[in-house]
Amino acid sequence: MDGAGLCNCGIVDLGGRVIVFDTMLTTQASLDLLLAAQTLTGQSVTTVINSHWHRDHVQGNFVFPTEADVMATLSTRTDMITNTPVETETHQKNVNQTLADAEAALTAAADPAEREEKAIFVKVLRILAEDAPGLRVRLPNVVFEDHLVLHGTQRRAVVQAMGGGHSASDSILWLPDDGIAFVADLLFNRVQPPLNCDGSVDEWLSIVDQLEALEPPLQTIIPGHGDVGSRELFGMFRDYVAMVRAFAADRAVDEPDMPAEYTTWHWTNMFQINIDFLRKDP
Ligand SMILES: [Zn+2]
Repeated sequence: MDGAGLCNCGIVDLGGRVIVFDTMLTTQASLDLLLAAQTLTGQSVTTVINSHWHRDHVQGNFVFPTEADVMATLSTRTDMITNTPVETETHQKNVNQTLADAEAALTAAADPAEREEKAIFVKVLRILAEDAPGLRVRLPNVVFEDHLVLHGTQRRAVVQAMGGGHSASDSILWLPDDGIAFVADLLFNRVQPPLNCDGSVDEWLSIVDQLEALEPPLQTIIPGHGDVGSRELFGMFRDYVAMVRAFAADRAVDEPDMPAEYTTWHWTNMFQINIDFLRKDP
């Protein structure tokens, strides 16, 4: 994660079945993911899981073999039918202008830290502009409401719908026998989480409690963005939400200073966006 906005993904070899969890935003990244899955397992990908409908987790679906199943909750599939083609088309139409604006902003920026963030943004936008014309939308063809258990010859994996915290419907891929879960955007590691999406912050907090209570306990957690972590990610998320909620409740200061410990996290622009969002929708 270098601020590129590409999500973390998972490759799981169950034995006779290879799962890819989430498919990233850019075609090149998705093709690299496909190649990595084939090279690491020596098999072709049989199953693609979409954690939620946000484009940085599903846009790459179309590069995977047509015979692979793409699985998601019914809610996620419905949201993809409504949103993904429109968002893809809008992105294709606007990306060159967004890139030009970002390049102008980078030229105008003087502060080194600001320049660094803007330079990353420009780098990402150049990649996005390049692959925009070739993007396609591929919808999930297998839907579930609550959970699915996938059995291979070596291990089992549980695809579990957790409810609507970050998005309207968030699913995880859990390997209960290995203490590992791919939790997508339900947890972030040193990346400021966007609280202003289409889920509910209260429900999100209760989902994080449920993740913490999973038995057998999770030991390795792959967040949607940021480095692989462990159980410290639960407390980090709760502390972050409590921090922005406290600032949102204090109307005396419109734009408070970010506490020092969060200045090193990625997506620093989310700090004020989250405060403004919570003031409107506590
Ligand atoms: Zn998301």
